[in-house]
Amino acid sequence: MNPRVMIMKVAKFGGSSLADASQIKKVCDILLSDKSRRFLVVSAPGKRYKSDIKVTDLLIALAEARLAGKSGEKELHAVLKRYEEIASELGATEVITTIASNLRELSDADRSSPGKFIDALKAAGEDNCARLVAAYLSATGHSAYYCNPQDAGLVLTSDFGKAHVLPESYANLATLSEREGICVFPGFFGYSPEGDVVTFSRGGSDITGAILAASINATVYENWTDVDNVYAVNPSLVKNPFPIHEITYDEMRELAYAGFSVLHEEALYPAYLKGIPVHIRNTNNPSADGTKIVCKHDNYDSLVTGIAGEKGFCTLTMSKYLMNKEVGFLMKVLKIIADEDVSIEHVPSGIDSITIVIRSNELTAEKERRIVERISLELHVDEISVKRNLSIVMIVGEAMAKTVGTTARAASALSKAGINLEIINQGASEISVMFGVRDEYCNYAVRELYKEFFTK
Ligand code: ASP
Repeated sequence: MNPRVMIMKVAKFGGSSLADASQIKKVCDILLSDKSRRFLVVSAPGKRYKSDIKVTDLLIALAEARLAGKSGEKELHAVLKRYEEIASELGATEVITTIASNLRELSDADRSSPGKFIDALKAAGEDNCARLVAAYLSATGHSAYYCNPQDAGLVLTSDFGKAHVLPESYANLATLSEREGICVFPGFFGYSPEGDVVTFSRGGSDITGAILAASINATVYENWTDVDNVYAVNPSLVKNPFPIHEITYDEMRELAYAGFSVLHEEALYPAYLKGIPVHIRNTNNPSADGTKIVCKHDNYDSLVTGIAGEKGFCTLTMSKYLMNKEVGFLMKVLKIIADEDVSIEHVPSGIDSITIVIRSNELTAEKERRIVERISLELHVDEISVKRNLSIVMIVGEAMAKTVGTTARAASALSKAGINLEIINQGASEISVMFGVRDEYCNYAVRELYKEFFTK
């Protein structure tokens, strides 16, 4: 059968799913329960309990100790111990010799380029986890192989700690679909064109999974974690919130913008481009439905899909009589802001006024002073002011575009709760409405909106 029309799933497991031997057994059971799960992407072993330390963080501590001129023996021992415990419980003790010599070699490597040195050690968390899982699968009689990202052709930019995939990787990785057996692929890193190990930013194993899924044209990209679903609102704000069964890529992007983080932001992109659905599932409860991220909804569970809020924004508001008649006014404002290398988020406007919404950390006091001075002097505005300590609260849902009165309902719920709205902005796509409120109202506003749209 042509591998391209076969059902092929890429299953990525996060650190908590690989934290110890019993978790790894669960991962393998899940994998083996469905023959179409041909590709397994692993993170490094994560936390076993709340105060535990992730293997990646232990490796960073080891790299830092070595860069500070210390022996790093204590730190190396801590990493080795994690792998030894897992390997001995899994009965895969042979692989531990390979893992130990790999870690020692990396810890003794040349340190003249700290970025390169740190990345090579950081990547060893997932690399050795993949070796371990592949060894366990083989030892239990299954056809599985460890896949080295360099041999597979996962080529990334040379930006240590924040690399991006290079386009040739997709065609290189596509050939893996022709190989027999379960491919165990380490997440989080690839190789630069110069042949150095380079990692994505933290949490980047999600990106590896999406790249692999896009390359082999997977039927679905399963992202296994430790929650049953993604919820309509942050569960630390609302008790037992409504689970999301299906969410579109666009909705997810809008929610992520207001601090709703599920997957690594960049991870969705390769899967989105190929239209591959992402299925978020729970390793500890595989019978739960999970949450599907899709291109288009099959059905709408609710009018609003999710609600999110994030603090840390500010606004720059200016007014000028007859502003709307002045050709190029907005362009000049944006140019002054761009000259200070400040990125902007939204630009709600009136007839004679414009507000620019900016993340507070972008607009330092120094930059604020220069921008305000230039706009006042060069553009002769009547008034200009900066407001800090603002939050963005968003309600997101594609069904909203087809329903009259959602914004009015949201605004009225907020006004009944005594929350003053500093900004209202509805994007042209009508899939989200954004409210600007003072920071002290952020969580309260999210809860009130949740009450309005999910409990009535
Ligand atoms: N192990 C890496 C981290 O902790 C990458 C990942 O788990 O996705 O950031």
